[in-house]
Amino acid sequence: MPSVAAKKPPVAAPRAIAAALLAYYDRHKRSLPWRARRDAYAIWISEIMLQQTRVDTVVPRWVAFLQRFPTIADLAAASVHDVCAQWAGLGYYSRARNLHKAAQQVVQHHGGQMPADAHALLQLAGIGRYTAGAIASIAYALPAPIVDGNVVRVLARVLALQEIYVPGPGGEVYWRWAEALVQAAAGLGAPGDLNQALMELGAMVCTPKQPDCALCPLQHMCQAHAQNLVAELPRRPQKKAPQAMAVAFAMLRTQAGLYLVRRPLEGLWAGLWEPPSAVGDDAAEKLRAQGWQLQHVVATFAHLLTHRRVAATVYVAGGRAPRQPTGEPQLRQIWAQPLQAPLSTLARKAILLAEPQAAVAST
Ligand code: SF4
Repeated sequence: MPSVAAKKPPVAAPRAIAAALLAYYDRHKRSLPWRARRDAYAIWISEIMLQQTRVDTVVPRWVAFLQRFPTIADLAAASVHDVCAQWAGLGYYSRARNLHKAAQQVVQHHGGQMPADAHALLQLAGIGRYTAGAIASIAYALPAPIVDGNVVRVLARVLALQEIYVPGPGGEVYWRWAEALVQAAAGLGAPGDLNQALMELGAMVCTPKQPDCALCPLQHMCQAHAQNLVAELPRRPQKKAPQAMAVAFAMLRTQAGLYLVRRPLEGLWAGLWEPPSAVGDDAAEKLRAQGWQLQHVVATFAHLLTHRRVAATVYVAGGRAPRQPTGEPQLRQIWAQPLQAPLSTLARKAILLAEPQAAVAST
C-alpha cells in the first residue's frame, strides 16, 4: 500500500493511457454478444439496455429483443405497447418508448439507417451524449468520447481529478479527457475499443469499492493509487434524502382475473399497468372517494425509488369496479394473468404480496 507521503507521479499523456487501455482490452475483454456485431442498431439497443441494468440481465433480453425486432424498420412499425411488453421487467420504460420513437425518426429522416455522426445521433429520442459517442465510436469508428459513471471513476482516479462530475458544463473536464483519450486511440486505429476498454476497466477492475489495483494496467500511472486517494475519488455530491411517498392499491379480483388500469403516458411509470392506486397520506380515502370498496389490508411494504421512499398499502377490494368518470382516458382491463402485463416493479411487488398464487399461475 503506498503511503500518504508517496511521491506524485507525473500525469500520464493521453497516448500512454490509451495504449495501456487498448492492450488490456485486447487481452481481457468479456465476450458479450453485441461485441461480435458492428451494426449501429444492435449496439444502440445494447447501450440503452445497459443503462440502469446489469450485463447478465441484459444479455438474454438483448437477444430476445433483436429476435422480436430484427431491424430498425421492424421496431418503428411495431406498436409502442408491443415494444413496452418486450421491455417488461427491465424497468425505466421511458427507454423503450424512446427507442420506438427514435426508430421512427430514423426511418423517417435517415432512410432506416442510424446516422454515422454523433451530432445527428443526438437529435434522436433518448440518445444523449454518452450513447451517441458509444454508437459513433463502436459502430462507425469515429473519435467520439463517452462519459458515464465507470469512465468518471477511472479518469478521476488515474488523473486525481477533484471535480465532482455533474452532467452539463460542470462535467466538462471529464469530457475533455475522454475526448483526448479517444482521439489518441483513433491515432492507433481503435476509438471504439478505447471507449469499451474504459467501460470494461471501470466495471471489472476499477470498481467503486475495493478496486483491484494489483491487476490494473494503469496502476503505474495512477495518481490516486500513488497518493492513497483511491477511496476518496471520484468526489461525489451530497445525496439528498429520498422523499417519503404513501401509495395505496385496490386489488379487485373477479372470476375472469385481476382488475388493472393503465397509467397515463406521461409521468411516473408512464403507460404501465397496475392495480388501481392513489398517492398521499389519505390514499385509501381517495380510492374510496373514487368508488373502490376497500375491505381490508392484505399487505404493506416499503419500496425504494431513486428519489422516493414508498410506503405501500395493498387493500382487497370487493363489489364492482366503480363507473369510470366521463372523459377519463385511462384504460381499464381485467387480466387473467396480471403478471404478464407491463407492470412497474412496485405494482408487481404489490400483486405478488397480495396474491402469491399469481406467480405460480403465470409460470
Ligand atoms: Fe483504478 Fe486502482 Fe487502476 Fe487506479 S490503479 S485506475 S484506482 S484500479
